[in-house]
Amino acid sequence: MSDHYETLGVSRDATADEIKKAYRKLARKLHPDVSPGKEDEFKRVSHAYDVLSDPEKRRNYDLGGSANGTAGPGAGFGGFSDLFETFFGGGGGAPSGPPSRTQRGQDALLHVRIPLRTAVFGGTEKVTVETAVLCETCRGECTEPGTSIETCPLCHGTGQVQRVARTLLGQMVTNAPCNHCQGFGTVIPSPCHSCQGEGRVRQRRELSIRIPAGVDSGNRIRLSGQGEVGMAGGPPGDIYVEFDIEPHEVFSRKGDDLHCTVTVPMTAAALGASMPIETFDGEQALDIEAGAQSGETIVLPGLGVTHLRGQGRGDLKVRLQVATPGKLDGKQRELLEKLAELRGEAVPQASMGNTARGPFSRLRERFAGR
Ligand SMILES: [Zn+2]
Ligand SMILES: [Zn+2]
Repeated sequence: MSDHYETLGVSRDATADEIKKAYRKLARKLHPDVSPGKEDEFKRVSHAYDVLSDPEKRRNYDLGGSANGTAGPGAGFGGFSDLFETFFGGGGGAPSGPPSRTQRGQDALLHVRIPLRTAVFGGTEKVTVETAVLCETCRGECTEPGTSIETCPLCHGTGQVQRVARTLLGQMVTNAPCNHCQGFGTVIPSPCHSCQGEGRVRQRRELSIRIPAGVDSGNRIRLSGQGEVGMAGGPPGDIYVEFDIEPHEVFSRKGDDLHCTVTVPMTAAALGASMPIETFDGEQALDIEAGAQSGETIVLPGLGVTHLRGQGRGDLKVRLQVATPGKLDGKQRELLEKLAELRGEAVPQASMGNTARGPFSRLRERFAGR
């Protein structure tokens, strides 16, 4: 892996402006539209700029993190090439040096339960997380103020010690991580008392999460850089927030539509009426047509959940349930009996099955056919 500074042709103490200028000059020259066949070089330049233009990544790179500018688990030893060199005594390839103490913080997954209303309109939710933040005492240096990190006296900063083993094939020299410094090549004689030399401390922190309208249970968002600070003041990880929508006592959600059931008196269903109902958009008029049946659905367009990507909202679908009047007094009973008589329903006729090919009609056909 070539050095990012060399790739851009700048000195190691180049300013952000110098880096930007150097990159622009090279990018213009190497852009695939201008110089076909130089894609690899273009990619290398872009990657170098990506690392060096980000102060955090650059700092990490300067401290000996990986070429990606992060010092994740892959930056340590134990990679394939190290294994190869262990067996064959190295040779070829630039020495990689000991791994950096500075590591990127872990990502974390947070489950957040939100009310249905927040899913409909979006909003913010405050949550408390326990996470690691930069140690104020040592500012991530890991050492007690006034002291400093020292080169490991055992491995002289290489992080590796050689072991000679006798095998059937003769003597074999292997490299192993230095136990004295855990392979870092450096030791901390006086670890910071606040963080015990970790460069970070645990802290409870309140996060305000902006919730986009339309989210559903299982949806995730990423809060970039809001996770724990890494070892030795390494860059923070990310927090992923997974939403869980609380069940609502009136409304249920199917896709971006909201569903609810409204009970209406039999007289209102028969005569038609306009009834106020409570929705997330305040009181709305539910217009019931004369002769409405139990189980019928009235659609209130645009009163559902906001579409997560794009414009507009789902609908509110109101299912009617017609309540048959009970506990009739004498006068009411008389009126209903009169109505039944007028409608020729004094001796009611049952009608069974509601479609021509319902279960009953099929049954009838089968008996008739035999
Ligand atoms: Zn500290
Ligand atoms: Zn050592």
